Amino acid sequence: MRAAVLNSGEILVREDVPEPVPGPGQVLVQVKACGICGSDLHFAKHGADMLALDRTMQGVPRMGGEELDLSRDVYMGHEFAGEVLEAGPGTTAPPAGTLVTAFPVLPRPDGSGIDAIVYSNRIKAGYGERIVLSVPLLQEVPNGLPAHHAALTEPMAVGLHAVNRSGVEAGQKAVVLGCGPVGLAVIGALKVRGVESIVAADFSPARRALAAGLGATDVVDPREETAWARAGTGAPVVVFEAIGVPGILDDILRCAPAQSRVVVVGVCMNADTVNPYFAISKELNLQFVLGYTPEEFAASLRSIAEGEIDVAPLVTARVGLDRVPWAFEALGDPEEHCKIVVEP
Ligand SMILES: [Zn+2]
Repeated sequence: MRAAVLNSGEILVREDVPEPVPGPGQVLVQVKACGICGSDLHFAKHGADMLALDRTMQGVPRMGGEELDLSRDVYMGHEFAGEVLEAGPGTTAPPAGTLVTAFPVLPRPDGSGIDAIVYSNRIKAGYGERIVLSVPLLQEVPNGLPAHHAALTEPMAVGLHAVNRSGVEAGQKAVVLGCGPVGLAVIGALKVRGVESIVAADFSPARRALAAGLGATDVVDPREETAWARAGTGAPVVVFEAIGVPGILDDILRCAPAQSRVVVVGVCMNADTVNPYFAISKELNLQFVLGYTPEEFAASLRSIAEGEIDVAPLVTARVGLDRVPWAFEALGDPEEHCKIVVEP
C-alpha cells in the first residue's frame, strides 16, 4: 500500500509499504483522514534528540519498548479517522464501511504489551492507506460527521485534558498563550466548560481570528498589548502555555498574577532556564500536562459531533499522500495553515 514515511529526517512517499494484518481483537481500517500534528513536525526535525531524552528519563513505563531506528522508514500519523474494512480472526467488529476513530494505541493480541500508534518502524499509522486498530478502543463517528472533522478528535482531546487537569472553574479567568492547534483546543474546551473570560494571545492575525471563533472572549496581539494587561492585574488566573519555545515559561512566571496556576501544554524540546524566584515569590502553581484519557477522547468526539466545538475553520488544507512532504513544510507558516488533513 502507499504511505508517507519519515526516513532520516525526510518525509518520503512509499508505494510498497507492507499491508497491515489485523489479529484477534483487531480490525483493518481504510484511513479517510489524518491530521498532521505539531509533534510530528518536531519529531521529523528533532527525533534523535527526543529519543535521547527518552532514554535518560526515569519514572515512566516504556510503551512497547521498541527501539526506533530513524534511518529506516518510520510510520507516523495519530490523528486519524477511517472506515472499517474487515475484522481480525474470530473478532466481532462494527460493519464494514463504519466510520471510526480511536485512541491511538494498539494492545498486542498476545497480551505482551501496548504499542503507541505514533512513531514506529512496525506499527502502521495514519499517513498511510490502511491501519490496524483495536476493536475495544474504536469510537464510531456519530451524526454524519465527516472524516476530516472526526480526525480532529485527537488534537481537541489534548485541550480538553489540559483544561480538566487545570481544575479551572467557570468563574475564573483563563489566559491562553499561543493559538496554534493546541492553544485552540484549550480555548474550545474552556468554552465548553463554561469559562466566561478567556484571553488569548498570538502574533498571527489568522490564529487570533480562529481563537475568537472558538470562544476566546479577548484576543490580543502581544506586539500591542500583553495578555496580562488585558486580563487585568490582581486576581489569580489560570494560564495555559501553548507556545513551547525557550524563554516563554520564565516570562509567564515573571508576569502572571500571584497565586495563578500555570499549565504547560506546549511542548518545548530545548533545555530552558527559569527563575524560581518569580514562582516562589508569587506562590505560583506550575503544572505540566500531556495527552488525554480514553474518556476525554470520547468526550472530544462528542463535542465536535454535537457542534459544541466547530473544528471546520481549523482545517486549512486537505491533501493526498503525495503532498505530505509539502504539508510538513507548509505548516511552518502560521498565517497560511492551522491543521492540514491528509486523505490517503
Ligand atoms: Zn497530536
